[in-house]
Amino acid sequence: MRVTEGGIDLEVPGEQTEGVEESVFYNPRQELNRDLTIATLRTFREREERAESYLDAMTASGVRGIRAAADGWDVTCCDLEADAVDLARENLERNDLADEARVEHRNVNALMHDEMFDVIDLDPYGTPMPFADAAFARCRDLLCVTATDTAPLCGAHFNSGVRSYSAVPQNTDYHPEMGVRILVSALARSGARFDVGVEPILTHATSHYVRTYLELDRKASAADAALEHLGHIYHCEDCLYRETEHGQVADPLESCPHCGGNRLLTAGPVWLGPVQDTEFVAAVRSAIPDAFGTAEKARELCETLEAEVDEPTHYDQHKLCKNWGLPANAMDEFLDDLREAGYAASPAHYGGTTFKTDASVGEIRAATEGSLE
Ligand SMILES: [Zn+2]
Repeated sequence: MRVTEGGIDLEVPGEQTEGVEESVFYNPRQELNRDLTIATLRTFREREERAESYLDAMTASGVRGIRAAADGWDVTCCDLEADAVDLARENLERNDLADEARVEHRNVNALMHDEMFDVIDLDPYGTPMPFADAAFARCRDLLCVTATDTAPLCGAHFNSGVRSYSAVPQNTDYHPEMGVRILVSALARSGARFDVGVEPILTHATSHYVRTYLELDRKASAADAALEHLGHIYHCEDCLYRETEHGQVADPLESCPHCGGNRLLTAGPVWLGPVQDTEFVAAVRSAIPDAFGTAEKARELCETLEAEVDEPTHYDQHKLCKNWGLPANAMDEFLDDLREAGYAASPAHYGGTTFKTDASVGEIRAATEGSLE
C-alpha cells in the first residue's frame, strides 16, 4: 500500500484485516506522534545547534528516520528484522534520501554500544526499558521515548508494570498520568546510573501510548537533581483523595485524611516534577506546518499542554460527580467555579472530562457543588 506522510512517499506491504488495509511496518495511528517528533526536532535544533545525528532505533518502514533525513538530520535507521531493513532502504531511495541516511541491520543495543548519537529515538512495540541503559550511555542531548504498554504502566497489569519499570504503578482514575509518571521515573533512574540527568521538555499520553522527550545533562549533579523529583502518590480508593510526597522512601498514610477510609494505595517511585517545558512546547506548536497531516490536532494538543496545571495527577469530573451522587455540569462552568474559588484549574490533555487543579478533592467539591444540583 502507498502512504504519504509529512511530504514523504512510502510503500509498505499491507494486509487486508476486516476490510481495512494495515501494515506491521507502518502504524497510521502514530502519525500525530511522528508529526510532533519532527516539530520537536526542529525546535530542539534551535536550542542545541550542535545536535546533528539522529538514531531511529526501531525504524520499521523507515518513516520517522526518513522524515528526519528530509529535515537535514544525519540519520541512522536501525532494525533487527531483515524485511524492515530492506523496506527502509527502498523507502529512502524512493525519496532520493539514500545518501542522507544509513540503515543498520543490527541489535540496536549493540549499535548504541559502538556509537554515540546526539538524539536517540526509542519507539518500540511495548516497553522501551530494555533499550534505556544503552541509550543513556550513548545519547548526548535528547532522548525521545515511546511506551505502548499502557496497561502495565498504569497498574492494570500490575506484575508486568513492576517488572518493566522497577516501580509500583497503581490502577487509579488517572490511568494515563500514572503511566507518564511511572515511565519518566524509570527513565530518570536509568539515566542516573550513567550520571545523566533528565529534564522532560514535552510529554503526552493517550490510551495507546506515552511519549516523552528528555533533554539530557551528562553530569552526576544533574542526575542527583533529577532524582530529587521522585516520590510517591498516596491515593484513597473510596473518595479519590490523593497526596504526594517527595523522597526515595515511602511513608504511606494509614487512613485517608479526607474520608477516614483505609482503602489506600501507594504508587511509586513516580516522577513528581514538571513533564513539560511550557516555552519549548509553545515553540514546537509554532514549528508545526499546515502541511502536516495532523497539524490541527498536534497544535491543539500543544496548546492544552501549555495551559495544563503542573500537578502529578489529574481528576475526571464525571467520576468525581458519580462518587458524590451528583449530576455533572458543563466542564467550562465546573472549572470556572474552581478558579473563582481561587484555585488553578485547566482541562487535561487526556481528553474527555479530565482536568487538573491544585485543589484537593474536598476543596473541589466545596467549590463546585453549588452548581451541580
Ligand atoms: Zn478517602
